[in-house]
Amino acid sequence: MAEFSTPCLIIGAGPAGYTAAIYASRANLTPILYEGHQPGGQLTTTTDVENFPGFPSAISGPQLMMDMRAQAQAFGAEIRSGIITSVDFKNRPFTAKADNGDTVTATTVIIATGANARYLGLPDEEKYSGLGVSACATCDGFFYRGKTVAVVGGGDSACEEALYLSSLASKVYLIVRKPFLRASKVMQERVLKNEKITVLFNCNTLGLFGEPNLQGAKLVENSGTENEQVFDIAIDGFFLAIGHTPNTALFKDCIRLDDNGYIKLEDGTSMTNVDGVFAAGDVADPRYQQAISAAGMGCRAAMDAERYITENGLR
Ligand code: NDP
Repeated sequence: MAEFSTPCLIIGAGPAGYTAAIYASRANLTPILYEGHQPGGQLTTTTDVENFPGFPSAISGPQLMMDMRAQAQAFGAEIRSGIITSVDFKNRPFTAKADNGDTVTATTVIIATGANARYLGLPDEEKYSGLGVSACATCDGFFYRGKTVAVVGGGDSACEEALYLSSLASKVYLIVRKPFLRASKVMQERVLKNEKITVLFNCNTLGLFGEPNLQGAKLVENSGTENEQVFDIAIDGFFLAIGHTPNTALFKDCIRLDDNGYIKLEDGTSMTNVDGVFAAGDVADPRYQQAISAAGMGCRAAMDAERYITENGLR
């Protein structure tokens, strides 16, 4: 049971959290960062990151995260393992408790707990992770130039991913479990008139196959009806776009969230509805969800925290 006090507590260890830690430590805020379940965040489950500026020959996701972590530590950020399990944002300084018994009091808090892509829950998704299965077309689409891919989902994300992939791949299947797309009309129209995209309505994925890399998916159409049909499609890539879940359960009673559970920010800033509590990265960004945009948000959150402390004479 240890007790700590810091001007700036950072919760979460993805690009947003580590970047906030770099900026906060350089601003002399002696931040403490809690790494949570998955130090490095979603990037630790990717292979090469080719779209993070500064790495013309790409960098592996885990390496990028280790480098950001080391950079934060080099400037004095204290990085602690442990999951924050409760927060008190009503009283000041704020208090947070971790699962290892730590209690932290903090003048400011930066929430950078990220979001997780939803998967179907098939064992094959894990088997082919990094070998054909991805939840980010922007990150991995480039590996499928001239190949055949499938996207699962019928919302705006799935349509956007399918359209993006159609500019790279030779053919894109869109696997939709309902007889219609949930996406906005304009996205639907774009998808339906794109000659490279074939929409497979009323279809669910039963499994994936191929050795060692992905070669196809087994689908079922009209499952549970007299018209049920099981068939295979040959694909090189399988992209999930069935939504993300922001990691905000801990904050649902104390921070304003949008209808999908993402933290709502005050326009153009990293400020939440609680003075002194800021948010950065995917947890507050349903739209872009990129490592570079998360890092940018982490920078802004640390700068906002520093300004808040200075302007309120809390140093
Ligand atoms: P949505 O929740 O809108 O859509 C999820 C899609 O995945 C639905 O078609 C859903 O099917 C399907 N799905 C969910 N679970 C499964 C499953 N187990 N098996 C098969 N299919 C499944 O999520 P999005 O990520 O698309 O969008 C989130 C929010 O972000 C939305 O408000 C969206 O409008 C917005 N957005 C906006 C964009 C833009 O404006 N450019 C771009 C991307 C997102 P079903 O319909 O049957 O439930």
